Amino acid sequence: MTLSNWPKTTGDVSFWYRDIGGFPPARPALDGDTTADVCIIGAGYTGLWTAYYLKKAAPELSIVILEAEFAGFGASGRNGGWLTGGFAWDHERYLSSGNEQSVRAMVDAMGNTVDEILAVASAEGIDADIHRTSELLIATNPAQQQRMKAEINHRRHWGEADRIRSLTADELAARLSIPGAMGAMEIGNVARIQPAKLVQGLARAVEQLGVRIAEQTRVHALLPGTAKTDKGTVTAPIILRATEGFTATLPGSKRDWLPLNSAQIVTEPLPSEIWEQIGWNGREIVGDFANAYCYCQRTREGRIAVGGRGLPYRLGNRIDHRGTPDADTIRHLIRILNKHFPVARNARIDHAWCGVLAVPRDWCATVGLDPKTGIGWAGGYVGVGVSTSNLAGRTLCDLTLGRDTALTQLPWVGRRVRRWEPEPLRWLGVRGMYSLFNAADRREARGGAAPSRLARLGHWLTGH
Ligand SMILES: Cc1cc2nc3c(=O)[nH]c(=O)nc-3n(C[C@H](O)[C@H](O)[C@H](O)COP(=O)(O)OP(=O)(O)OC[C@H]3O[C@@H](n4cnc5c(N)ncnc54)[C@H](O)[C@@H]3O)c2cc1C
Repeated sequence: MTLSNWPKTTGDVSFWYRDIGGFPPARPALDGDTTADVCIIGAGYTGLWTAYYLKKAAPELSIVILEAEFAGFGASGRNGGWLTGGFAWDHERYLSSGNEQSVRAMVDAMGNTVDEILAVASAEGIDADIHRTSELLIATNPAQQQRMKAEINHRRHWGEADRIRSLTADELAARLSIPGAMGAMEIGNVARIQPAKLVQGLARAVEQLGVRIAEQTRVHALLPGTAKTDKGTVTAPIILRATEGFTATLPGSKRDWLPLNSAQIVTEPLPSEIWEQIGWNGREIVGDFANAYCYCQRTREGRIAVGGRGLPYRLGNRIDHRGTPDADTIRHLIRILNKHFPVARNARIDHAWCGVLAVPRDWCATVGLDPKTGIGWAGGYVGVGVSTSNLAGRTLCDLTLGRDTALTQLPWVGRRVRRWEPEPLRWLGVRGMYSLFNAADRREARGGAAPSRLARLGHWLTGH
């Protein structure tokens, strides 16, 4: 790794804002105490989708969204642009709050989010570089291949047989050149997006429907009927928390969801000679079966964006400063770029950034509304919130309006899970898990058919 391909810029939320020429014009902050029918905390996909569906279903409702920074500041403006219709995480775990049939209904509902998001984007004129495609998860050693086979069987069992396919090394090579690839799992009906364009378009659509978004307005206390900020207090019978990876910064929520880091790098636009060698003409979203897996996309301009975990968690729930990753994480991502796309190894790296996503103790997403307090929530999507947040928004809409629908019957609704351990156990557990994942990946790369036991130990350590 040379200094010449060290990222030109880092942080400042994400590359995706640079891609659209900077941040959107600021919206006014809250200007004193106010009342509303519904108050939403957080203007990422979850908060915005919830407001969107509520306003469409009940235009008379007054809705205010309180946002600490600006709409799209969080993971919604920073992610890998994988719109997959998959969900967090382990289907079996949802059996504790449902049954096989309801878990399959959830798989269906999640899968349908892709069409739903694309339909709304089209209806609202949101241009988010959307490209309907498939997802390719590559296996590059025998242990990964074994994990891939198990995942294909698992997904087929849970109702995704129609959209899952196994690709041989030759079938994959005809579409995409990744050295050492032994095959791939292909998942149909997904899309590549530009995340900041989606969240900005959604914020505009929601405002046009009459929702008020108050930016630079941080909630510091959340009680039944009131959300307190230093710019005023909102009194509302329904308050919905949509703060995902930042939830741990709210008083009383420190140990609910762990803020896990994810980071990305993006190359300069690559010339056609390089693309001819890589292929990738289907613009599939591409990842791998490593234990510390990566996620990649070919952007609108022909750049490669590579994402992965790097430094997974900072002691005491600390969150990055406007998306600046540490040097080790950047090195880790450059190594992945060089390994999977060696012909691009001399490409300039234009940007590196990071963000936080939320991990519940059982790694399963939840959505709910407590009728006694009027406080609702959605999140804990782990790494798959681009589509899950849409289903969460529609579900929170139904719960808020007191509707008993197919969505409110899904097994993630109203799930309560135990909290994370206090520090330093939380930090030791997550750091330990990722150290074991990285060691397992190194061991698996050296050969041997069986997935390394170190990875299993890593999963066990944090109940993953
Ligand atoms: C680097 C990265 C890559 C990812 N890649 C993918 C991907 O490719 N596909 C996928 O499906 N998922 C991905 N994810 C996850 C996905 O982006 C998130 O699950 C999703 O965006 C969550 O949306 P949200 O609205 O719930 O949260 P966020 O977008 O994080 O929004 C929360 C908002 O709440 C605001 N807020 C926080 N605290 C307060 C407060 N006290 N008062 C007021 N406002 C507050 C924040 O400023 C923020 O704007 C990725 C995440 C990261 C970080």
